[in-house]
Amino acid sequence: MNLLHKQRTEDALANFEHLDEQLQHGEVVLEVNNVEKVYEISDDVEVHALRGVSLQVRRGEMLAIIGQSGSGKSTLMHTIGLLDNPTAGEVFVGDTDVTDMTQNELARIRNREIGFVFQSFNLLARTTALDNVALPLVYAGVSGSERSRRAQEALERVGLGERLDHAPNQLSGGQQQRVAIARALVTEPRIILGDEPTGNLDRRSGFEILTFFQELNEQGITVVLVTHDLRVAQHAQRIVEISDGLIVDDRIVPEDERLDAYAELEDYLISIGELEVLQ
Ligand code: ADP
Ligand code: MG
Repeated sequence: MNLLHKQRTEDALANFEHLDEQLQHGEVVLEVNNVEKVYEISDDVEVHALRGVSLQVRRGEMLAIIGQSGSGKSTLMHTIGLLDNPTAGEVFVGDTDVTDMTQNELARIRNREIGFVFQSFNLLARTTALDNVALPLVYAGVSGSERSRRAQEALERVGLGERLDHAPNQLSGGQQQRVAIARALVTEPRIILGDEPTGNLDRRSGFEILTFFQELNEQGITVVLVTHDLRVAQHAQRIVEISDGLIVDDRIVPEDERLDAYAELEDYLISIGELEVLQ
């Protein structure tokens, strides 16, 4: 083995051990054990979307779940995000077994702990950005004036303080996704789940949205990103791969292979002449 290769191997191992240790020490915030999900299409047709999946999400990590279309990514995200009950297996939030909770009880935990961002934004049409973002606070029982104040603050945080009264169809795709991020953040969740959040966006908006996810993670929020795209997944610290309803790989992204969305955004803006290179 040549020296350079040896050094690289040792660096990668040190990096792996460091992160692994960090993750080991991080509390488990979401966990599924041997989860199965069967969709009944008709009397005699079933789809086994998850076939025995176990996964632990640790506090403060940025995790990507990757797999081809139809592999079970969204189903897994809906299960760890408490949006849907599994057919078999257990679901935990922290130490709490939530497997047998009712949809109402799950909604209460979800509203407090988890923010969601979807590929198709899922904003209410003919409703202003401010009211879209304030909506989760209605369910949380927050008063009207407090709702507006906090929704405005969340929109300012994603750079849309000047667009409070715009309806979704008056905003670009990237701006709509930023409204969706503000809506996910407004309840101050400790966990954010994104299902193909850049799937409908142009490159520039994609980098912007990934920049937000990386920044939120640096601020201590646990991030789970579902994607079919390896380049998107490489913004995470850890990649879990799912195939045909089973986890087939779970790996740490070496620090020197991890992508930095803000740097990519800058490079992209320079390449299209929208940003000058500073010497
Ligand atoms: P992915 O997000 O990786 O594309 P999904 O979790 O959406 O995969 O789907 C996994 C499998 O379950 C697919 O075969 C899909 O057709 C099926 N499926 C997903 N949701 C439903 C549903 N609500 N009803 C019936 N089948 C579904
Ligand atoms: Mg999906």
